[in-house]
Amino acid sequence: MTMDGLKPLAAAALERCDRLARLSEHPLPRLTRTFLSPPMREVHRLLREWMTAAGMSVRVDGIGNVIGRYEGAVPGAPALLIGSHLDTVPDAGRFDGVLGVMLGIAAVEAMAGRRLPFAIEVVGFSEEEGARFGTPYLGSLGFVGRLSPELLALRDANGASVEHAARSFGVDPSSLRFDASRYVAYLEAHVEQGPVLESRGAPLGVVSAIVGQSRRRVRFVGRAGHAGTTPMNLRRDALAAAAEWVVRGVEGCAGWRGGVATVGRMTPSSGASNVIVGEVAASVDVRHEADETRERMVTEILDAGQTIAARRDVVFEVADAAAASDHRTVAMDARLVGRLRAAAGGDDVPLLASGAGHDAAILAPLIPACLLFVRSPGGVSHHPDEHVYAADVERALAAMVRFVESLASDPLV
Ligand SMILES: [Zn+2]
Repeated sequence: MTMDGLKPLAAAALERCDRLARLSEHPLPRLTRTFLSPPMREVHRLLREWMTAAGMSVRVDGIGNVIGRYEGAVPGAPALLIGSHLDTVPDAGRFDGVLGVMLGIAAVEAMAGRRLPFAIEVVGFSEEEGARFGTPYLGSLGFVGRLSPELLALRDANGASVEHAARSFGVDPSSLRFDASRYVAYLEAHVEQGPVLESRGAPLGVVSAIVGQSRRRVRFVGRAGHAGTTPMNLRRDALAAAAEWVVRGVEGCAGWRGGVATVGRMTPSSGASNVIVGEVAASVDVRHEADETRERMVTEILDAGQTIAARRDVVFEVADAAAASDHRTVAMDARLVGRLRAAAGGDDVPLLASGAGHDAAILAPLIPACLLFVRSPGGVSHHPDEHVYAADVERALAAMVRFVESLASDPLV
């Protein structure tokens, strides 16, 4: 199909994003749609309608993922999986997640009934953002059969568990099974959610890896005191220590090439204007594409906290020194990355690491996976102002169709 032929399909994908943006837990235009919340039912109804019209058979799995299957030349053949997520953060934009699902349907529409050596399954994952239960990827983890009993037992702000939410929606998590041999590859398209592609004047980018992440909670413990009667040299000001750490220890460390480190939360114990702060609780989030470098950054940042605090006679504590919650970097499949880049335009297409997590990170350890980024104007995302250029979406669809064709003519071995 020519680029001109794809134009109306890309336009329809954008219209469908607008349509889904009207399905919200909050009064419009505020878009919030968390895991299997009431508006998700209408999302399912529309997806079923669009997928059926595109020639797919539709099923909903045990964690509420919607899956449309477009049969290959041989019924029952393994499938190319294309998808992203259907849930949103509170006060979301219209494209984060759903754009990838709508482009998946458009890619099937572009086949116009032509049968391939493999099937195509388009998946809308029920949850990726972590907004309702505080943990992300419930949809894709369920899809690959890795929802642990602990995850199913997590409770939302109203005390309902993941399992209860699923069952009340009418699906049964115990029915989830995954067989990697049923899939040839996973392709996800997603808005970049950052400013890199725009800064390079590039409509599309291909992701090399989803970067690893460490989070730590720390505490500075000094001594509270009277703001008027305690001389500066006799203070043990926890907030001053924490502030120095943010600037010199964390921002200073972010000099590691390509790494990022952020103190997103800092809570002083006092909060009164005439009291020296006795205690500060803070968080630090560290990300780098190379796992060893990330670990070095964490060590350096925590050592700096120790040194700075000691000089100020303040105690520095790390609440969760154990790296249990660390996520390692997940590389995308090198062969697919090459093909997707060729399909998107070749060597000029930026290859970039994703600083944000995506469903592809859950699929990649199990089936060859790749991730296409669509430029985010202004780098804006997780915000109602999030948008995309129609021409970029057309290019994304064309790249996905070329990618499908490359797999059809030259399968991965
Ligand atoms: Zn997303």
